[in-house]
Amino acid sequence: MSHAKPNPANPFSILVRDLVHRPGESRDAELTIIVPEKMGEGMVAVPEGATLNADMRYESLHDGILVSAEVDTVAVGECSRCLKSITVPVEVDIQELFAYSSDEAFEYEVHDDHVDLEPLIRDAVVLSLPFQPVCEEDCPGLHPTTGEELAKNLDYDFETSTDPRWSALNGFEASTDNRDRGISAGADEN
Ligand SMILES: [Zn+2]
Repeated sequence: MSHAKPNPANPFSILVRDLVHRPGESRDAELTIIVPEKMGEGMVAVPEGATLNADMRYESLHDGILVSAEVDTVAVGECSRCLKSITVPVEVDIQELFAYSSDEAFEYEVHDDHVDLEPLIRDAVVLSLPFQPVCEEDCPGLHPTTGEELAKNLDYDFETSTDPRWSALNGFEASTDNRDRGISAGADEN
């Protein structure tokens, strides 16, 4: 597929004709986009239909248009510990040159007096999304065996704590020999 034709349906495609080959000129603009396609594949992602705001600055340089952006949107998904639904604010700063040259040295190019911000913004947003999002910094997560949500004040320690139902068994194991263990361990389970 040719990437040369600006797509009028692409809200990320911005006309910069007023700046092309006019080094020294610059323009600020606010951009509001209804995200047309989900950004991210992890536990949180910016969903289709989310509002994305960007404070844009376009600067004309000799070899292209320098695009700076402060992007602001929200991702939704699940807490990686307790699986509760969460929203995660996303704020990323971007700066990239859109070159006039189609030289491979430049990742982004000006096409037909347009810059397509979609790959630039998408990559920056996706990279900023947390791999292990949490509803709160101290979310205690779910109980490792029962799957129930743990109370925050319980201060559960996953490394050393033992299910109270098993603690009696631990003492039992320490004080008995191997022949008796199978019977007692099975009896404690429900
Ligand atoms: Zn949580």
